[in-house]
Amino acid sequence: MTNSQVDYLIRNAYVITMDTNRNVFVDGYIAVDKGKIVSVGIDAECNLIAKKTINGKGKAVMPGLVNAHNHINQMLLRSSIDDRSSYVPNITGFMQKMVDIWSNATPDLCYKIVRLHLMDMMLGGITAVHDQHFTNYPNTNIDGTLEAIKESNLRAFVSRCHLSAESLPEQARENVQDVLKEVERLKSIWDNNFITITGSPINPTWVKTPEELIELREGIRDMNVPFDIDLSGASWKQTLIERGYTKGGAVKYCAELGILDQDVSGGKSFMLEPDEYDIWKETGMTACIVPLGRIRDELGPSTHHFLARDIVPGLGNDGPMGTPQSSIWQVMRHTYIADIVRKKAETLQGYTEDHHIELSPEILLEMATLGGQKHLFLGNDVGGLETDKFADLIMVDINNHRFYPHNNLRRIPTHLVFSTDVQDVELVMIQGKIVVEDKRSTIWDYEIVKNEAEAATQELLKMAGYESMLPSRTPGSSFNGWNYK
Ligand SMILES: [Zn+2]
Repeated sequence: MTNSQVDYLIRNAYVITMDTNRNVFVDGYIAVDKGKIVSVGIDAECNLIAKKTINGKGKAVMPGLVNAHNHINQMLLRSSIDDRSSYVPNITGFMQKMVDIWSNATPDLCYKIVRLHLMDMMLGGITAVHDQHFTNYPNTNIDGTLEAIKESNLRAFVSRCHLSAESLPEQARENVQDVLKEVERLKSIWDNNFITITGSPINPTWVKTPEELIELREGIRDMNVPFDIDLSGASWKQTLIERGYTKGGAVKYCAELGILDQDVSGGKSFMLEPDEYDIWKETGMTACIVPLGRIRDELGPSTHHFLARDIVPGLGNDGPMGTPQSSIWQVMRHTYIADIVRKKAETLQGYTEDHHIELSPEILLEMATLGGQKHLFLGNDVGGLETDKFADLIMVDINNHRFYPHNNLRRIPTHLVFSTDVQDVELVMIQGKIVVEDKRSTIWDYEIVKNEAEAATQELLKMAGYESMLPSRTPGSSFNGWNYK
């Protein structure tokens, strides 16, 4: 392309393309027209003109980050780790709490809470997000979530979940046919080029019987959309043993049921039996690492076992109840640390297979972008920064003190993993539309989003009778040994 006018041109940037050849243009340009990348290369060779030219000097341009595992409406209880609770600390108690809170919600309250989470993620450089929505009482709660997602311009892979295990509160339990009807309803309203809606059991143990798992899988297969299921964890293996399955873990169990194939988004991938990584590879499923929860409960995720099998997992932070920050930059660091911890734990168990695999800055950046794209089945038009792909990209300030010294730019990818965070993201573009510019949302008013989320949260928790569980950090009270005046 020569001398024609394109919509956007970013000049003199450090362009990390993650294209097929993994080209990096240390002084590069990228041209965007009608939502797609039309040219990318060495800046000195750029002969294009644009309606809008953006100065990329001192900036890195790279594909948008993907949050590959999340529960978006949990923004309601962000940082709730120190709330008091009268609930039993197990899955029954957790789900009863969800029922008590969310059964008071309206789509409008959900919309206002979710919108804050979406804005938070976008300001941090996220261009695509996963959501497992399992608080469907009433059914219309999820419509508020989807309205906010549609407004945001984010790409989204949203699972309307099905729960039926007898350990769950009655209000949370449904039958498969009703859930499939709901998935159809949501698809008819919300499915578009940016949003894909599917159904999910969350994990194989939150559904009552294997027959139900198969029925749900077949129903989703008939809709011709990918299936979403979390597949791992020692606690789920224990539940399977109690139900009479003793041949292995959740992956083997689901593979034997015939519900795993290349159309499956295999979430929260950790604590597998040694032979299950090979089963995973054979099925062709995608994978996703959620490191912080795994540091807490399972001595780290097994990223190296996936990489050893040429599976590049996506990265997710899970819901804000347990992981208050929405930063995939932090998730990259957690993944790096957690893999070291996991290797040490495996070594103590006498298991050192795949320990030669190192998590380089380059592979962590690929997991945070390309791995997530694959996990969310975003399609062939979304990928690295190369001609004919959709322009889903971010621009990051690399000329601040956190990037120094960089030895003539030699350490930029390393600094992007270990020194960058949400505050460095200056511009976010999704399919050629600028949604964050000069660190501000172009979609929503920042103050309105913050304040309406605060008011909606207070209203909903008050209706649920939850106020007594909030930390007593109010004047005249004490909490954790501090006295509030
Ligand atoms: Zn989760």
